[in-house]
Amino acid sequence: MTKEKACTKCGITKRREMFSRQAAKRDGLRCFCKACQSSAKAKYYATHKTHVLASCAKWAAANREKGRAYCANYYRANTERVKAQKAAWQAANPDKLNAAGARRRARKLGAAESPIPAEFSRWMREQAAACRLLTGLPFDLDHILPLSRGGAHCTENLRLLPSWLNNLKRAKLDSEVTSADFHDWINARGDSFELRITWENT
Ligand SMILES: [Zn+2]
Repeated sequence: MTKEKACTKCGITKRREMFSRQAAKRDGLRCFCKACQSSAKAKYYATHKTHVLASCAKWAAANREKGRAYCANYYRANTERVKAQKAAWQAANPDKLNAAGARRRARKLGAAESPIPAEFSRWMREQAAACRLLTGLPFDLDHILPLSRGGAHCTENLRLLPSWLNNLKRAKLDSEVTSADFHDWINARGDSFELRITWENT
């Protein structure tokens, strides 16, 4: 087996590890290198954002177990990579909410706090990871009624939002956000509380 392969997109000859596997191919690898594949993905996302976000939410809601198993497997196989990515992302986005940060912030602001079941936190993280795998985008925990507006830090007031939409929302109410992208996302899901309700019903 050759150690290198030429990408049919960028034409550069790269090591085998630079290509994703595809069992159906004679050499077991995709034609495009990983770099070309991810830029093609990003391009697709940029032009089909609403569609991608909607199908991601739909898939995550309909495939809880699959998503959970997929994330767990991915994490097991790529633990170091996931940890490094997470650390890099957190370093680059110190203002982003994560579950622990949200809790600290809530306490600091004196928000009413009801204990968040560990199950719920884990499930939220899994959903966020599943959405991230599908879209290539980071997701944040959002307080639906912002903490700074008296919102509580409790399961009823938490949901997942893609980070870039959470950044648009910040301390606003949904109705105060002017971005069409934001409302597309909320509306595409039919019910902005879908993730929470799915969890509560189990
Ligand atoms: Zn390439």
